Amino acid sequence: MGEGAEQARVIRERVVRRECRRCGEGFAQRAKGRPAMYCTPACRQQAWVQRHPRVDSDPGPPAPAVVHDIVERTLAPRPAAPDWISLLGLLAEQLGDDRTALVREHWHHRRLFTALQNATTALDTAHPGGLEPIVRRESGRYVVGPGRTGVQQQ
Ligand SMILES: [Zn+2]
Repeated sequence: MGEGAEQARVIRERVVRRECRRCGEGFAQRAKGRPAMYCTPACRQQAWVQRHPRVDSDPGPPAPAVVHDIVERTLAPRPAAPDWISLLGLLAEQLGDDRTALVREHWHHRRLFTALQNATTALDTAHPGGLEPIVRRESGRYVVGPGRTGVQQQ
């Protein structure tokens, strides 16, 4: 892998402060959950009224044309082998539990499969002698290699 891949890091983004979409006043964001658009329930209500105009309702002053977000970017530490093993175990665990969102959100499955195939191909390239010796030691439980991934039919 080249220098680009060496520098590739997971970047986490979080809105820490935002200007209200209704009044333009800056306000801090909660640490968790989706960032709020409005500073107060009153502003959220006014914005709703403005989006649903009625003859007898006062739309109030116009909303600001430009509002700003302050976004915190965090470089996540690069995962090491034990982290990957743990994460992939967690993935298998979630896919095995039909109560998880991962099972229901089937539209992600194709991209997950492609990512797993790419990882398997990269592992085959990285490991001295490829994955075949490991596969043989694993008593042929799996068929692994470029273009061939998955549980072998018994
Ligand atoms: Zn506001």
